[in-house]
Amino acid sequence: MKDTFKHKGLRQQLVNIVKNKGITDEAVLKSIGKIPRHLFMDSGFLEHAYQDKAFPIAADQTISQPYTVAFQTELLQVKKGDKILEIGTGSGYQTAVLCDLGAKVYSIERQLELFKKTSKFLPKLGYRAKKLVFGDGYKGLKEEAPFDSIIVTAGAPFVPKPLLSQLKIGGRLVIPVGDDVQVMTLFIRKGTKDFEQHEYGEFRFVPLLEDKN
Ligand code: SAH
Repeated sequence: MKDTFKHKGLRQQLVNIVKNKGITDEAVLKSIGKIPRHLFMDSGFLEHAYQDKAFPIAADQTISQPYTVAFQTELLQVKKGDKILEIGTGSGYQTAVLCDLGAKVYSIERQLELFKKTSKFLPKLGYRAKKLVFGDGYKGLKEEAPFDSIIVTAGAPFVPKPLLSQLKIGGRLVIPVGDDVQVMTLFIRKGTKDFEQHEYGEFRFVPLLEDKN
């Protein structure tokens, strides 16, 4: 697992690209500049790791585009010590960004192959999530709720109710909602049954799977 000066240089260029696309949160930019994204990808894609693009990982899934990771993370407004639930661990790149920002991260993955691979890989790099779970993100993680925020990293055909109900008051849910194309949506819990909703344009994700495995 090598991280060379060349990788670091490419990463700095990636930070500039993401910045030019409108990301302003310095802490998020710093994490993107620090985390060796090339190590989260299968070796064939090493040269592409610092382009602002999604790429295939195992089990027909993708590692999200860095801009998308930055955009979702910025919307979460992460504070040190926040308890955060991620749906769709995948490669673990987004998980690493959240850990790097000082969050206590819980992450759920539906594909056994990815769950196993990423559970081994993340601690090797020094990113320790509180809990990685093999399970169904539609259900959230009731036993650990409530969360300061929840991030969904796959396209959700609808907003799963358990995710809204597992937010703290004042908590934030960032979720791409839609079938072929998704609208990035932020819910802020204002009261037990009161949610503020904001929409932030279109993104494309692999689908949040139901009834698999
Ligand atoms: N955050 C990941 C993005 C991976 S793509 C990264 O940075 O690499 C989305 C992930 O969501 C895939 O790994 C997919 O297997 C997973 N997924 C799909 N449906 C799911 C579900 N119902 N529950 C949990 N994870 C799911």
